[in-house]
Amino acid sequence: MTSSKNPETIALHAGWRKDDSTNSVAVPIYQTTSYQFNSQEHAANLFSLKELGNIYTRIMNPTTAVLEERIAQLEGGLAAVAVSSGQAASAFAIQNLCRAGDNIVSSTDLYGGTWNQFENTFKQLGIEVRFADPADPNSFAELTDDRTRGYYAETLPNPKLHVFPIAEVAEIGKKLGIPLIVDNTSAPITCKPIKHGAAVVVHSLTKWIGGHGNSIGGIVVDGGNFDWTKFPDRQPLYNEPEPSYWDWVLGKVVPEVLGANITFAVRARFVLLRDLGSALSPANAFNIIQGLETLPLRVRQSQENAEKVASHLANKKGVSRVIHPSHQEGIYKERAGKYLEEGNGSLVGFELEGGLEAGKEFIDKLKLFYHVANIGDSRSLAIHPASTTHSQLSADDQVRAGVTPGYVRLSVGIEHIDDIIADLDQALA
Ligand code: PLP
Repeated sequence: MTSSKNPETIALHAGWRKDDSTNSVAVPIYQTTSYQFNSQEHAANLFSLKELGNIYTRIMNPTTAVLEERIAQLEGGLAAVAVSSGQAASAFAIQNLCRAGDNIVSSTDLYGGTWNQFENTFKQLGIEVRFADPADPNSFAELTDDRTRGYYAETLPNPKLHVFPIAEVAEIGKKLGIPLIVDNTSAPITCKPIKHGAAVVVHSLTKWIGGHGNSIGGIVVDGGNFDWTKFPDRQPLYNEPEPSYWDWVLGKVVPEVLGANITFAVRARFVLLRDLGSALSPANAFNIIQGLETLPLRVRQSQENAEKVASHLANKKGVSRVIHPSHQEGIYKERAGKYLEEGNGSLVGFELEGGLEAGKEFIDKLKLFYHVANIGDSRSLAIHPASTTHSQLSADDQVRAGVTPGYVRLSVGIEHIDDIIADLDQALA
C-alpha cells in the first residue's frame, strides 16, 4: 500500500502489501471462481452492496483488484474495472451510458477496431456513433442532440499522432451533462486525461501497460469527477430506477451507500460484468501486473528512444516526412505541449519518398524490429499500414486517415538506441 502520488511507487505498491495468510510479497494469482461467505448475513450484505467484497470472479477477483487499484491511482481516478480486452473496455464505456436509440459523438481519429465497433456493431444494436473532427472541439457540440449520452476520443491516435483537445471537449460536455471518455492506451503516465476534465479513461492493457506482449486485457477507469444527476434527462441509466437492483436510482444510491462518486464503475461491474461477462482472467491480471510494475521506467526509456528515432529519421535521405509530436506545428504542437506532460509517446511515423513499394521493402528488411500489428511492446515493432491495417480503405480514405502509400508506423521499444537506429539504417539503405 502507498499514499505516494509518484507513478514509480504507485505501480509497485498501490493496492497490495502482502498476502495475510502466507506473507507472499508477489501478488498471488487467486485462481478461483467463488468465495466462501462468512454467514448468510454476510452474503446478503454483499449482494445488496451494503458491504463490498468478493462474490464471484466474473464480477471481481483479488488479483484483478490490485491491477484495478494501481491503474485507478495512476490515472488519478477513483475506481477501475478490468475487462477481457481493450475492445471490451470501449464497449463497456459506451454501454454504460447508452440504450438503443441513444448516440455518442466520437472523434474520427480512432484505432480501426474501435471504429468498426462503433460504426457497425453499435449501429446494429441501435446505438449511433456520430463522428466529429478533433481539430475543432465545437464539432462535438454541433453533433450533439437530446439523445447524446457521451463523447469519445483517443489521447494520441495513430497514424496522425495529433493530440486530442481533452479539456476543450470535456468542458463542452460538462455544461450539457455529457461525460468525455478518453482512450489513453498510447499515453499512459505521459497524459492524465482525468486531470484535464475527462470523466472516464479506458485502456487496452495489451499495449504499454502489459508491455511484454503476452496478455490481452482492458480497463475502464471512473474519474469520480462527473455529476451524473445534474441533468437527469441526459443520463437516464443513472437517474431512472434500475430494474435489476431493486429499482435503485444509481446516481443517487451509489454515492449514498458507498460514500464515493464511483457510480460509473459500480454500474460497469455490477450490471455489465454481471450480465455481459468479459471478465479478465486472474492469470492475465497477474501477467499484466508484472508489466505494470515497471511501466513508468519503460515509458521513459521508450519515449527517449522515440525522440532520438524521430530526429534521426528527419535527417535521413529517402524520408520525406516524420510524424511525431516533436515535429508538429501550430495547434497540434500546442496540444502536445499541454497534454503530453511526461514525454511525447513512443509511436513514430515516417513517409518514404519511394511510396508503397519502398514501404513494403523497408518492412521486409528489418531484422530487430518485429513486423506485427501490435503497438506498445517493450520490443520495437513496425508495420506498413497502406498494405496491411488500412489496405481495405480506398486511396482517398487512406489519405484522410493519415496513411500515405509510403507511411511506416514504428512503436519504439526499450532496446539500446544504437541497435534500434542501426536496424532502421540498414533497412533504409
Ligand atoms: N485502443 C487502442 C488505441 C488500441 O490500439 C487497441 C488495439 O490495438 C485497442 C483499443 C483494442 O485493444 P485490445 O486489442 O486489447 O482489444
